[in-house]
Amino acid sequence: MIMQRDQMLRHLANETFDLLVIGGGITGVGVAREAARRGIRTALVEMQDFAWGTSSRSTKLIHGGLRYLRNFEFGLVRESVVERQRLLRMAPHLVHPLPFVFPVYTGDPDPLWMLKIGLMMYDWFSGKGTQIPHRMARGKAVMQWEPLLKQEGLVGAGIYQDCATDDARLTIEVLQSAVQWGAVAANYAVVTALRHDRSGKLEAVEVEDTLTRQRFAIRANRVLSACGPWADTVRRMDDPSAPSLLRLTKGVHITVPRDRLPLTNAVTMRGTDGRIMFAIPSGAFTYLGTTDTDYAGRPEDVRADRDDVEYILAAAQKNFPGQKLDFADVVSAWAGLRPLVRSQAANPSAVSRGYELFPSASGLVTIAGGKLTAFRAMASHIVDYLFPATKRAQGTAPSDNPLPGATTEPVAQETVKAISKATGEPEAEVVRVAQRYGRRFGPMWTELQTSGALSDGDPLMAWRLMQLKQAVEHEMAVRLEDVVARRTSLLLFTQDNGQRHLEALGQAMGQMLGWDATRTAAEVERCRQRVQEMFAWKNA
Ligand SMILES: Cc1cc2nc3c(=O)[nH]c(=O)nc-3n(C[C@H](O)[C@H](O)[C@H](O)COP(=O)(O)OP(=O)(O)OC[C@H]3O[C@@H](n4cnc5c(N)ncnc54)[C@H](O)[C@@H]3O)c2cc1C
Repeated sequence: MIMQRDQMLRHLANETFDLLVIGGGITGVGVAREAARRGIRTALVEMQDFAWGTSSRSTKLIHGGLRYLRNFEFGLVRESVVERQRLLRMAPHLVHPLPFVFPVYTGDPDPLWMLKIGLMMYDWFSGKGTQIPHRMARGKAVMQWEPLLKQEGLVGAGIYQDCATDDARLTIEVLQSAVQWGAVAANYAVVTALRHDRSGKLEAVEVEDTLTRQRFAIRANRVLSACGPWADTVRRMDDPSAPSLLRLTKGVHITVPRDRLPLTNAVTMRGTDGRIMFAIPSGAFTYLGTTDTDYAGRPEDVRADRDDVEYILAAAQKNFPGQKLDFADVVSAWAGLRPLVRSQAANPSAVSRGYELFPSASGLVTIAGGKLTAFRAMASHIVDYLFPATKRAQGTAPSDNPLPGATTEPVAQETVKAISKATGEPEAEVVRVAQRYGRRFGPMWTELQTSGALSDGDPLMAWRLMQLKQAVEHEMAVRLEDVVARRTSLLLFTQDNGQRHLEALGQAMGQMLGWDATRTAAEVERCRQRVQEMFAWKNA
């Protein structure tokens, strides 16, 4: 499937749409997909790259959110669990069941019996789906599940199932599905102003293509702002006196090599202050997080600070004392902002993860809040609200139609071994890459094998070029950073953050997109800067 940005931009400038969505995170692409499915002529613009905001910086879980039960958010948890089961069918290549061990220690805020009740509700919400029911263990019996856990004070644990995903890839696939159904979308297209008619109604949206600096206007009957942490900024383009809707809280994660924290299951652990956090095995790595602190800076400047990394390492030390993880183990770090609907709660973790719609007098509608997991249900409610007449529309396909790469056939273990041997990529990372492309992986691998590139010097480079080609030709990657950070996970899930092959990838991408030497060098430099920013806390 080809997503041609130039063609998209031409359509955006020349057509009148039923709906314009501002923001290409999971919320925006989810709404674009649902609207296009119902036959609504839909446009979407994203100021950076798709999933550049919160949607590539989450904990990457498709989950009900066990801890929200404690805040009595039963509706939110139930909806998320139902959506999790649905996503397992829609995107089995991207959404993977993962067992979670939740240990309880003497002095923890919630006793073992309370965990048991929570897990029973969790199972009940998932109905008869594919969910494996939870189990409980007492005392040292827990160590057979996760031998690295701290033993001292261990009362018992529950083991339950949730799911993990690649958030940025999920966003891209939902976008591809939207485009397949007729949506028109472009990245690096920032909304700079909203134009109103004499009566104050929204008339057009002014956009700048940040790659060429060309400006144009988009006309649409309805405009939705799905700008996550930037919701207040866009609302104030509409009404400079609009009050702030959002409370932004920062969440940081760090990654360590899997052999430094070799977990079999994900672990739901408590930080030194009793907050719930996670340690999640992922390919050849394990990542840990998250923090949850109020954030007052510009959303685009958010990054991991030394305090954040220390806090996560302290949690690791508390739960896995034998591993003695420290700064030197950290391979990557990322920081995201939760766009939570403003509340008076003193503790950020107690603020609801639900969502709300805010219509303005001009006709702009802003969506605030939400979760990655519930994007489909949320999109359905939003499109019902914006276009009530389409509520019962049959559409081109059901809204839980499988995403473009969906396959239930994983790549065979012998193939994984053979690829690992041929390319030098660790087996666990071969699995990550194969899962990323789902049913498209087979043809990609066959093409690479028959091209002869694997025997040309650097087979790992050839393997990465295969992914770059897919990103440029089919996934609207237009900057090197799009490939390194979001179409692939080289930035977060490789020991060198993708740096070893950066120059060569930049050259190859430049050839495909017609860059000159200056542009290629600038793209490579931009990626190096991202790595430096990621580790800025080391020098603090
Ligand atoms: C640390 C953390 C962990 C999380 N973990 C989970 C989890 O495990 N599971 C889960 O279900 N949820 C999780 N969430 C919540 C989930 O990630 C978010 O709810 C979701 O990603 C928000 O998506 P969004 O599309 O609303 O916002 P975003 O992804 O931020 O997208 C908004 C987009 O709007 C664009 N934009 C802004 N202004 C403009 C403009 N003027 N013109 C054009 N475009 C513009 C931005 O560039 C951005 O890409 C987590 C959140 C955080 C912060």
